[in-house]
Amino acid sequence: MRRASGRSAKRARRPRRPLPALRRPHLSKEHARLVRVAARARRRAYAPYSQFPVGAAVLASDGTVYAGCNVENASYGLALCAERVAIHTAVANGRRRLTAVAVVGPAGITLTPCGACRQVMEEFGVQNVILASPRGAPTLVAFPALLPSPFPQVAARGRHAGL
Ligand SMILES: [Zn+2]
Repeated sequence: MRRASGRSAKRARRPRRPLPALRRPHLSKEHARLVRVAARARRRAYAPYSQFPVGAAVLASDGTVYAGCNVENASYGLALCAERVAIHTAVANGRRRLTAVAVVGPAGITLTPCGACRQVMEEFGVQNVILASPRGAPTLVAFPALLPSPFPQVAARGRHAGL
């Protein structure tokens, strides 16, 4: 059946590929702590519309940790992801060199950050992302595997040829 617009109601789906460079590591103490902080933050998620609570935690280069959770809004487009809440909190506290982000989603799901959050991670130098859920082994991902071709900062600053 087709909609009035003529577009199929069913979206074409790309086949899912496993993430490259996935490792099931023995986490360092710092990364294990990051997962615990993210799991605690997940309990504070404000997700009355999606019922999909997510927690995140960011490790800054000086060892400080900042938590975030998703925060939704009746105007859906205003929702913020847990990762960006955590990263922006770190920046608001004066931390611009970030080394790792942990993300904890619902049980049974290996949640990966959305594209917007990946670009924000790129901005602040994130090197590792730990994907975790309330149960099951966490997965450590080298950041370039998540965003191999980021929007270049040099272009954003208008320093490329022609400007
Ligand atoms: Zn996101």
